[in-house]
Amino acid sequence: MIIKPRGTMDIMPEDTPLWQYVENKAREISSLYGFGEIRFPTFEQTELFARGVGDTTDVVQKEMYTFFDKDNRSMTLRPEGTASIARSIVENGRCSDAMPLKLYYLISCFRYEKPASGRYREFYQYGVEMYGSESACSDASVIALADAYVKALGISDYSLEINSIGCKECRPAYKKALTEYYMSNYDVLCDTCKGRLKTNPLRILDCKCPQCAALAKDAPKTLDFLCEGCRDHMQTVQDSLEEMGVAYKVDTGIVRGLDYYTKTVFEIIGPGEPDKDGNVRRLALGGGGRYDGLVQEIGGPKLPGVGFAMGLSRLIIALQMSGIELPKKPAPVLYIASLGKNAQTKALSVVQKLRLDGIYAESDLVGRSLKAQMKYADKIKAEYTAIIGDDEIEKGKAILRNMNNGEQTEVEISALAEFFTKGGIK
Ligand code: AMP
Repeated sequence: MIIKPRGTMDIMPEDTPLWQYVENKAREISSLYGFGEIRFPTFEQTELFARGVGDTTDVVQKEMYTFFDKDNRSMTLRPEGTASIARSIVENGRCSDAMPLKLYYLISCFRYEKPASGRYREFYQYGVEMYGSESACSDASVIALADAYVKALGISDYSLEINSIGCKECRPAYKKALTEYYMSNYDVLCDTCKGRLKTNPLRILDCKCPQCAALAKDAPKTLDFLCEGCRDHMQTVQDSLEEMGVAYKVDTGIVRGLDYYTKTVFEIIGPGEPDKDGNVRRLALGGGGRYDGLVQEIGGPKLPGVGFAMGLSRLIIALQMSGIELPKKPAPVLYIASLGKNAQTKALSVVQKLRLDGIYAESDLVGRSLKAQMKYADKIKAEYTAIIGDDEIEKGKAILRNMNNGEQTEVEISALAEFFTKGGIK
C-alpha cells in the first residue's frame, strides 16, 4: 500500500467542516478589517526565501523543500507566505498603490520539521499583511485583528504576548550584549546554538533544549537596548492595544524565528497539551510582527510592513480542547428509501428537486435492502425518511416519518419536495 508522506495529512469529509469553519471565519474577519485575498505560487525561486526569510534561519538552513526543475533552476515549496507576498507586490507594481495595502491569504506551507502533535511538514496558514505604514497604530490594528479572529472562533484559553526586537540602529548593541552573555556560558550551549552564536545569536533565545532555555531566562533583554524610536513605537503599540481593550502581556523572550522582523513581534499562545513525559507544552497558534526591511531586501522600494500568520491545525487543536460545539458534516433533511428500479428513479427525481431548491436530501444509489437503507438513514442522521415502492408509486403517496419523534404523515409523492420547501418542515 502506498502511504502519504510523513508529516502530511488527509482531511476527511467529517473533519472538513471544522477546517471550513476556521477558513470562513478568517475570510469574514479579513473583509471586516478591509483585507483583500491574495493568491500566489506554491513554489518560488529558492533565492527569494534565502534573501527574504534569511539564510541563517532554521527554516532556510534545515527545513526547506528545495528541488531543481528540469531547467536546473533551484525552486522551493513555500515555507511561509510573507516573502512571496513581498515579491508579488513588487512584481505587480503595487508598491505605489494607495496605502495601506491590506492583503490576506489562506495557504499550505512546507517545512521539513520533525513531525509531532501540531507540527506537520505540510501545514496550513491564515495570514495577513499590511504594507505602507510605519505607524505603530498599524501594528496594533493587525494585532487586534489576530486577537479578534481567535476570539471569534470561540477560543478563550490563549494569551497574546508582544515584544520589540529593535531596528537596524539598536539591534547591533543588543546582539553584542547577547553574544557576550552566551560566550561566557559557551560550554552550556547545545551544539546547534554554539553555531548560532556566530551566525545569529538571537536564534538561541528560541532554542527549546533545556540547557539553552534555562540560559535564556537570564539573557539580556531586547527592551533594555531599544533606541528612542523603537521605545516610542513599542509604547504606542501598547497604548493602542489598551485603548482598544485588547489584553496582552509583554514577553521579552519572543524573538520569532525569521530574519525579516523589526520592532514589534508577537505571538498568540494557545492552551497546553501534556507531552509523553507529562510536561505541558503550550502551542503557538500564530505569530507575526513588523518587517520594515523585507521589500527592500528582495529588490523592491522602501516599504514598511506588518502582519501575522496563524496555523490552522493548531487552531483546530485549540478549538477541540475548548469544548465548544463544533461544526459537523451536515445531515440530510430527508432520506428516501426505495424498493425496486422504478422507485429508485422516482426517489432520485424527488431528491434532485429538493437539492435544486437548496435542501439537502439523499436517496439510495447502491441497491441496499430496505432494512439496510433504514439503518443507513439512521447513520447519516436524516431528519425525515420516506419509503417509496411500487405500491406507493401506484397510489402516488408515501409515508413521511419524522426520525426524531416518530410522527408519520402521508404525503403525495409529487408534492414531497414542496412539503419541505413550502410546508414549513425545514
Ligand atoms: P511561524 O511563522 O513559524 O511562526 O509560523 C506561524 C504559525 O504557523 C505558528 O504559530 C504555527 O501555528 C504555524 N506553524 C508553523 N510551523 C508549523 C508546522 N510545522 N506545522 C503546523 N503549524 C505550523
